[in-house]
Amino acid sequence: MVELRKPALYTTTSGAERPDLARLIGGECLRCGFVFFPFQRLGCEVCGAHDEELSTAILSGRGTLVSCTTVHHHSTQTGLIATSPMPTPFAVATVQLDEGPSVRALLSFGDESTLRPGEPLQAVLAEVPPAVAASTGELDVRFEPLRQVGITPNHVGADTDTNEAPPSWYNL
Ligand SMILES: [Zn+2]
Repeated sequence: MVELRKPALYTTTSGAERPDLARLIGGECLRCGFVFFPFQRLGCEVCGAHDEELSTAILSGRGTLVSCTTVHHHSTQTGLIATSPMPTPFAVATVQLDEGPSVRALLSFGDESTLRPGEPLQAVLAEVPPAVAASTGELDVRFEPLRQVGITPNHVGADTDTNEAPPSWYNL
């Protein structure tokens, strides 16, 4: 039994050849076509449509690197709330998804030095470090260079993108 850390945000490619790849659970506005992440029914950021005019959309998990940085020292305090220490180093990236939305998420490895902006990335499911996992074998999304995942880019992105994404991102 696969235990996903945030099952409302992503899913496995069950039945597919690559169960290690993650699909993100986004949404699409049925009125104007705007694609967003994560899914919500409160309202389309572009046209204001809401409720039944918003539908879930399973996003490919592919995108391109906008920026990233490696964290070498991580505070265990966020304000007054103690948090579990994330083992360092780890790398945080802003990723522009092929379908339009941007997310901020962890890379699958702790050193971004081999990456450049524009690098094609894929969301994969990786085991959460035991120090921060809620249960053994828990899986969470990490982004990995497409060239390391072993699948061929299909260029769904920038050249076919008609999405006018607002300048914001979601912290995955
Ligand atoms: Zn809309």
